[in-house]
Amino acid sequence: MKRYARALNFLFVFLLVFSFINKKEALYSNILVAVEQFNNSFDEKIYVLRNEINYLYKTRKRVKVKDYEAKGLINYFDDDGQGVFFDSVVPMPKTYYHYNFKGAKDILNKKLNNSLQTLIYNKINPFSTNGDIIVIDTFDKRWVDSFQENVLLKSFFKLTKSVSRDNIEFMLYDRYKDFIYNKNVFSIIIPEYNISGDSGESEILRGIWYFDLDGRFFLDDLKNIKARTGLNAIVLDSKGEIIASLDQDIDKKSIDVEKYYQFSLERTNYKILIQKFNIKNFLDLEEVLYIVLLIALRLYLYKKQKLEKEVYKLKLAEKIKNNLLVRDSLTRLYNRHFVEHNLSYPMKSCGVVLLDIDYFKSINDSYGHDKGDHVLRAVSDVLKLVGGKNSYAIRWGGEEFLLLFKNTSESELLKKLELMSTLIRKLNILDARGITVSVAATIRELNNKQNLYSAISESDKKLYEAKNLGRDRIVF
Ligand code: GH3
Ligand code: MG
Ligand code: MG
Repeated sequence: MKRYARALNFLFVFLLVFSFINKKEALYSNILVAVEQFNNSFDEKIYVLRNEINYLYKTRKRVKVKDYEAKGLINYFDDDGQGVFFDSVVPMPKTYYHYNFKGAKDILNKKLNNSLQTLIYNKINPFSTNGDIIVIDTFDKRWVDSFQENVLLKSFFKLTKSVSRDNIEFMLYDRYKDFIYNKNVFSIIIPEYNISGDSGESEILRGIWYFDLDGRFFLDDLKNIKARTGLNAIVLDSKGEIIASLDQDIDKKSIDVEKYYQFSLERTNYKILIQKFNIKNFLDLEEVLYIVLLIALRLYLYKKQKLEKEVYKLKLAEKIKNNLLVRDSLTRLYNRHFVEHNLSYPMKSCGVVLLDIDYFKSINDSYGHDKGDHVLRAVSDVLKLVGGKNSYAIRWGGEEFLLLFKNTSESELLKKLELMSTLIRKLNILDARGITVSVAATIRELNNKQNLYSAISESDKKLYEAKNLGRDRIVF
């Protein structure tokens, strides 16, 4: 049992350690994979935007300029819900290119988790300081005021470029408030270049595509991180503002960067933050149950072991007690209690013998009680020694002994009794005095206690006879 318990202990610790190491490693690699997937997904989305731009460009149609209004340097008109703005264009052209923004927006929103808020195209006249045409998917006159402030910087792309894996250039704007629609958005901005000339160096910025997006743009990717790792993740812009988060409770103030692993969204200054794991991430319910079960089993075995020890102790105590109960304390021979309760029947051909020390009272009187005790112990030792395996030696009374010999014969019994008498006579305890015994013996079939007692009483009579005949003899 002990060995099992030790093995179980070992198994338990081993499983725990193994499970922890395994889980930790799996989690680390899962995090890395999840970040890689996040970046790939971002690339794909840029690619989707780029494709849509190409499609819009190819399917544009030249249409007549409608009646327009003017404000400051901007002329504008509503083109079926799309706004068209001419910035510093003098004189107004007769025609312009119409892009199917509504269709494009629907398609993109299906692919981008409905995150696209506004789609704007700013066609730039590269050879003149004025003359931009701006097309916006949702018409609102407040845009006119916004454009008066000349928010679109053409030089921006010359200065800062992010180059994706597919060599598609884009910019990622930080989060800002769209005051016209009162929404928090960030922008992915894709420039349109004319690659002209043989040298290949003379890239000319022809237009800029603006995609205003909200946090839903990254939501599926965050969910993927959560599914892979079980950890919450956040996307931060370059100012540390939250672009997207799965956890509604997280706001800017509660972000403790120490509690997150930081990864960069490749080719941008955005960051992917993944919550650091704690012990909870290592244990799923199944494992907790498993471990609880192991502990319970371990406790059970421990208790069982303890109980077994206790039972053993009790049994031992019982044994000792029983032994004391059936033994005479002076001589260590069996006592009457033993004869009364512990003998089992039948005993075939059983020699029933009473043995009494002669003149014991005078031994006590002449040599003292202690010497008397000494004689009792010495005689007892002889009885045990000669009696051997198949016999019981019982202290029947003060200096009277009952001997039982199982499966014996008259001659064998006689031999033993004679040997006993001889050895007792030779005991050198008392100066100038030998010790003699009177012995009465009979052989009986003992089927029960009654048989024994009737044999004893018969032997008792014979013993009386032996005493009367002068002691120091064996009467059969
Ligand atoms: P007999 O030859 O007729 O047997 O004479 P006896 O003196 O041996 O017999 P009796 O019955 O007159 O005396 C037995 C004595 O044994 C009396 C008692 O004081 C003594 N005795 C009984 N038990 C013990 C004991 O445990 N220790 C000692 N030292 N003496 C004991
Ligand atoms: Mg006596
Ligand atoms: Mg006596």
